[in-house]
Amino acid sequence: MIEEILANLYRMEIPLPQSPLKALNSYAIKNSERNLIIDTGWNRAECMDAMQTSLKKVGVDLRKTDFFITHLHADHLGLVSDLITDTSKVYFNQPDADWLKAGFLWDDFVSFARLNGYPEKEIQEATRSHPGLKFRSKGNLVFHILKEGDTISIGDYAFRCIETPGHTRGHMCLYEPSKKILVAGDHILNDITPNIQLWSDGWNPLKEYLASLEKVYGLDIELVLPGHRSIFRNCKERIQELKQHHEKRFEEIISILGKGSKNAFRVASQMSWDIIYDSWDLFPVLQKWFAMGEAIAHLKYLEEKGIIRRKMRGQKILFSSA
Ligand SMILES: [Zn+2]
Repeated sequence: MIEEILANLYRMEIPLPQSPLKALNSYAIKNSERNLIIDTGWNRAECMDAMQTSLKKVGVDLRKTDFFITHLHADHLGLVSDLITDTSKVYFNQPDADWLKAGFLWDDFVSFARLNGYPEKEIQEATRSHPGLKFRSKGNLVFHILKEGDTISIGDYAFRCIETPGHTRGHMCLYEPSKKILVAGDHILNDITPNIQLWSDGWNPLKEYLASLEKVYGLDIELVLPGHRSIFRNCKERIQELKQHHEKRFEEIISILGKGSKNAFRVASQMSWDIIYDSWDLFPVLQKWFAMGEAIAHLKYLEEKGIIRRKMRGQKILFSSA
């Protein structure tokens, strides 16, 4: 599916088979000298086929194309290694580039999952099916690093980089002030809630995410081009809804811990999830994995606020009301 949103700016829908996200929005900006593609899809045949068909229809020549990637997740970055040519620049942010350079720290994630009560018997299945491992980009990508306030100029567009950490440490949006458009990546989505997860103890992603929402709230935006699902206009309203969503989550977790201390996996199993399965036990392994990551992000936030606290019981972290 291809849609011309504004002059020379196209949305290309790249399917994400078997993912609840359904598809990725890749954006192409066409220009006589260099084209720009924003986000790419997983590194797998279905994404490559859709990308090539779309580029042909739009008339984008990859030999004259640069890339901007909003963040490190494989549904955004994965395919870029198979699309670049000798002349391509890949614009990216430093924190996510550092994270990739350190290697995919899967073993650390697994230890962290164990600490938080993820069942041993499901760890192998989560490892086998995680799309971040299966569909990541190949080889060592050379990035052209951008920072807050840097600009990418292309034809009639001058995109300003807005650092929006939270979904990942380095997540970056693009803002076009004269056209009042925001390329939002996974910072603000309309039909689903961006997933904020924590898989190490080194930072507080929700604190950064909520601050990044505040930051974008201050921009004059008429049209949001998100990484998934539909484009939308009511940016300020959507930001309010997302803030309320996390407030509700905090309340829910406080109430769950009010009934006794629990590890993060147990907390996640008692939270409400907008998913088609009737009970937690029926969730696919990977959905439990992501749900626990989200629970941990909220627990970390509440812990830093002094509302809850942790202690170790044996080899597991246990959270309780402060
Ligand atoms: Zn995404």
